[in-house]
Amino acid sequence: MRPDLPSPTPPAGRPDTPRTYSVRTYGCQMNVHDSERLTGLLEQAGYVAAADDDGADVVVLNTCAVRENADNKLYGNLGHLAPVKAGRPGMQIAVGGCLAQKDRGEITRRAPWVDVVFGTHNIGSLPVLLERARVQQEAQVEILESLEVFPSTLPTRRESAYSAWVSISVGCNNTCTFCIVPSLRGKEKDRRPGDILAEVEALVAEGVREVTLLGQNVNSYGAEYADRLAFGKLLRSCGDIEGLERVRFTSPHPKDFTDDVIAAMAETPNVMPQLHMPLQSGSDRVLKAMRRSYRQQRYLAIIDRVRSAMPEAAITTDIIVGFPGETEDDFAETLHVVRQARFAGAFTFQYSPRPGTPAAALEEQVPREVVQERYERLVALADDVAWSENKAVVGRTVELMVAQGEGRKDVRTHRLSGRARDNRLVHFTPVDRDGRPVDVRPGDMVEVEVTYAAPHHLVSDAPVRSVRPTGAREEAAVLLGMPTVRA
Ligand code: SF4
Repeated sequence: MRPDLPSPTPPAGRPDTPRTYSVRTYGCQMNVHDSERLTGLLEQAGYVAAADDDGADVVVLNTCAVRENADNKLYGNLGHLAPVKAGRPGMQIAVGGCLAQKDRGEITRRAPWVDVVFGTHNIGSLPVLLERARVQQEAQVEILESLEVFPSTLPTRRESAYSAWVSISVGCNNTCTFCIVPSLRGKEKDRRPGDILAEVEALVAEGVREVTLLGQNVNSYGAEYADRLAFGKLLRSCGDIEGLERVRFTSPHPKDFTDDVIAAMAETPNVMPQLHMPLQSGSDRVLKAMRRSYRQQRYLAIIDRVRSAMPEAAITTDIIVGFPGETEDDFAETLHVVRQARFAGAFTFQYSPRPGTPAAALEEQVPREVVQERYERLVALADDVAWSENKAVVGRTVELMVAQGEGRKDVRTHRLSGRARDNRLVHFTPVDRDGRPVDVRPGDMVEVEVTYAAPHHLVSDAPVRSVRPTGAREEAAVLLGMPTVRA
């Protein structure tokens, strides 16, 4: 517990028990990363995780502002919490994240039972604001216009012991017309490479085997100190970290995706052959209206170069349907790119106007029923393509990292789950060639042969070929009586 942080006053009537917390996370990986910091901060201040969310002394809502119904979701949740709080004196509610950064004091005006509102630039202030609200019996609203400290310097409590998010930058210098992130998370701020690599080394020393480098636009990493090749160099430096088995990153941006990054991916063994690169639209006219600063041809050319450097790479994307002014011809261009790019998966979204973004003010909003109909056609095509891409993996031997949570046993099939190097989800049966159960744990690396493909996951019902327990070196894999054929 940090001596300089006020220790939270124990709950009424329970003087000897620490106050409990629950952090509810909405939105993107950046929020997941921030929530790991919020839980780390609260635990460092002496709070403990509540056994059940509804019973927590402190409820923290880490909000998202990307989609229109985000507001409805927040005020709906706060409405549900009001009677809970009324029935439990001393309970506190705190609201953080992008919607807090946007709505500020409006939140306590609409929901006066909220105790604390903090922004995306000062998540470190939560424990102090909670105590101040308690002592002064007054709601605390503290929103900063620029970053106080890099969230990565704050204490953390990670969801997984083997995988970790490592933020390399916060904020974004782009101005996509549908996006509110730059106005809520500010201009891009880059961490120094040394700080990032030191954090990764510390994580590996704690047993982490996989890191995901995180930024709104990882490809422009280094812009702040004028090094356009910084991201490619960072990937290569991760390759020198002993014990770091897997490196992933999100989100790249096609306009800044340069060949040095493709080369770094292909030439650095622990950088995974997997790329999640948002397309948003396949139409040049719509990409221009979105202010995405690339066109269809450039996007497909990057995909081709990635594939020629890493033929086994799995590529996924984000696509928005129904952007204002989108015609049937524009939409046909999106379908064309989905066929050409052969995505292993696509996160598809129906456009919804976000107040405060330029696109929300555009005249030609596409009627809902048209957006819905196009959305269904896109999902059907994207699923078809993903399924045929998955079918091409059947018969291949892949190495999985058995992930926490995802690694739990399926009671019906007794299968465990893990992620392949290309981030595909694989459900496998933990038995050896004689049908005996194999002891597999989260974080272990197992080699299995893919025997079946579904649209969004793969299955291996063949005997496990090898197991490499967490912490064991590559060459220590326990072969289970079957020759290993590496993918
Ligand atoms: S790149 Fe565009 S969509 Fe992504 S965070 Fe920046 S402004 Fe938003």
